[in-house]
Amino acid sequence: MRYVSTRGKAPVLSFEDALLAGLASDGGLYVPESCPRFENAELESFIKRAYADVACDTIYPFVEGEIEKTDLRKLMFDTYKGFRHEDVAPLRKLADDFWVLELFHGPTLAFKDFALQFLGRMFDRVLAERKQKVTIVGATSGDTGSAAIEACRDRENIEIVILHPKGRVSDVQRRQMTTVDSSNVHNIAIEGSFDDCQDLVKAMFADAAFRKDMNLSAINSINWARIVAQVAYYMAAGAKVAAITGKKPAFVVPTGNFGNVYAGYVAGSMGLPIEKLVVATNRNDILDRFFKTGIMKQAAVEPSLSPSMDIQVSSNFERLLFELYGRDGAAVGKTMRHFREKGPFTLDEGMMKKARAIFASGHLSDDDTKSVIGRIWREKEYLCDPHTAVGIGVAEEWQRQNPGVPVICLSTAHPAKFPEAVFAASGMRPELPPHMKDIFTKPERCHTLPNDLGQVKGYIGKSVFPLSPLGRGVG
Ligand SMILES: *Cc1c(COP(=O)(O)O)cnc(C)c1O
Repeated sequence: MRYVSTRGKAPVLSFEDALLAGLASDGGLYVPESCPRFENAELESFIKRAYADVACDTIYPFVEGEIEKTDLRKLMFDTYKGFRHEDVAPLRKLADDFWVLELFHGPTLAFKDFALQFLGRMFDRVLAERKQKVTIVGATSGDTGSAAIEACRDRENIEIVILHPKGRVSDVQRRQMTTVDSSNVHNIAIEGSFDDCQDLVKAMFADAAFRKDMNLSAINSINWARIVAQVAYYMAAGAKVAAITGKKPAFVVPTGNFGNVYAGYVAGSMGLPIEKLVVATNRNDILDRFFKTGIMKQAAVEPSLSPSMDIQVSSNFERLLFELYGRDGAAVGKTMRHFREKGPFTLDEGMMKKARAIFASGHLSDDDTKSVIGRIWREKEYLCDPHTAVGIGVAEEWQRQNPGVPVICLSTAHPAKFPEAVFAASGMRPELPPHMKDIFTKPERCHTLPNDLGQVKGYIGKSVFPLSPLGRGVG
């Protein structure tokens, strides 16, 4: 498979090159040149197969010609062997025609492990083959950072630098990052918002000299390899619920960067029958407003109970925009430049009709999020985290308006990642799984910096590969 940029001006790359590149050199995102499609029989066969096999079959068409299927299969079994549930992504029935897809049984208790455990192993494989080293630089609103660090720690050819907004991630989230005692792990707390962190990362990638010196690579959800790994749980869950109900399910997805729900869009494009993809946001509802009005208009980021969704500019949305524009990279580039420099843009009715055929949306306030957590605990004895609660609240409302459609709500984090919010809402203290119980006693390693590109670059230059045999480290 070959990969093209959503802005149409970057070189066309192989899977492995797109993996290492992350963001395209024209500022766009890589997408596959064409979309493979599954036959119904193949989709139905997923019901009986191990999760790692479904993942292997889903990913293989995207890497064909670069990785042997037997190697990929081994890699996928290795990727998911550390998950704590035998189904890897278990479905939990909460009510008639209502399931929660639990995506938090990986090492860092959030769905990001699904993609990042795969990505870390892929990087390792490709870098070893090419005898290269990279510096992975990423911004996190909470969960990406720990999942990326866990996936890359102690890997010989990788240095990993994670920027998080100081004071805006939960204690558990921060400690999951800062208590990792590996010399290739570098945490930076930025005095600013998640969008500031993301802008700093983008600016570093846009600086050709710095990018080359540091051999920068991305793990944020702009990396195509992350998306493709996430497509697999839509396949596995969608096939199962279709078999149980005999109907096409809707997926409700708590959304921030639009990565997870975009993976659902890819699953649909590959032939998985999906009634609707419902985008669920918190008070930072730019995407909900967009799907309702056709206007993409940024507002200030406001902290919420679901911090991993406190995002205004959703990077992966550009991939959907590319499809809505009929894969016209020049038009996408123009719109994105306009959005960045001048502000809001509006899509015409034709495009919105296309979008609304597939997507619906809703948002939930913090108060309603708390009520959902409390009510689901009282009624079902099921404890959910605030991100999942946003999904459940939006899903219930959507199902009221669309009765008879089976709903799968993605549960993106374990409740123990957000113990204060969960306790305040339910009176229950979710317990951390045994492997994480010591994070409150371990020492933290983290450096605080202002929202200043020069200082961040300077710090990374000094900290990363100081003894690099390639002489790449600055100073
Ligand atoms: C990252 C994250 C999200 C948002 O996912 P996107 O792919 O950015 O839409 C939602 N919930 C949790 C718990 C997360 O960590």
